[in-house]
Formats: sequence, structure tokens, C-alpha cells
Amino acid sequence: MHHPRDRGVTRRKMHEFSITQSMLSLALEKAGEAKANKITRINLIIGELSGVVAECVQFYFDYISKDTIASGASLSFETRPTKLRCQQCDKVFSPTNHEWLCPDCQQASIEIVSGRECYMESIEVE
Ligand SMILES: [Zn+2]
Repeated sequence: MHHPRDRGVTRRKMHEFSITQSMLSLALEKAGEAKANKITRINLIIGELSGVVAECVQFYFDYISKDTIASGASLSFETRPTKLRCQQCDKVFSPTNHEWLCPDCQQASIEIVSGRECYMESIEVE
């Protein structure tokens, strides 16, 4: 039985676990297509706003890739910064603090251009 306060943490860990699972199966699929014997490196893009913790992905990856050709592959994480666009004047900017205000016209009506992404960019095989 879990204390109610633990639930958020558990959900977040499940999030990383399912991301790692789909990342691994995609990598294995690509390696199969390339008739590779071994996956040596997996390059991942993680947006600042995605909430994905690289250490968690690495931890799960080591565990679930054990009996696959991706075992021992190094994971490379590239963080993508948050980019916002002002809906008033179209300016694209990166927030410098927690207040998402346009630096030009001070409007708070913004849309997220990037920062929520989380995907596998490429793999390196042998
Ligand atoms: Zn603006």
C-alpha cells in the first residue's frame, strides 16, 4: 500500500519507464532494418518542459536492454531549451524566469514553440 503522497512520484517514474520502453523498441527495430549486430549509441532529444529525467531513462534502459543487442549502448541526451512565441507580436523568445511574459510587449498570451519534445534522434550501430 502506498501513502497518497507517493503517487505523484510513482506516476512520474512510470512515465520514464514507458518512454524508455518505446525508445528501446524503436532502436531495436531500426537496428534490425540496418542488419546491425550491436547498438553502440542512442541519441535522444529531451525538451526542458518534457519533465523527463535523463538519469531515470538511463536507469531503466540499463535494466530492460540487458538481453538485447542494445545492451551496453551509451545514451546521449541533448536538452532542447524552452522557446515561446508571443501571440500578440509574434516574437519568439526563451523565458528567463518563471514568468512567461513577452520581453517586447509584456503580453502573457504565449504559445509553446519547443521544449516539450522527447524523442530518439538517431542510433549508432556496428
Ligand atoms: Zn509580444
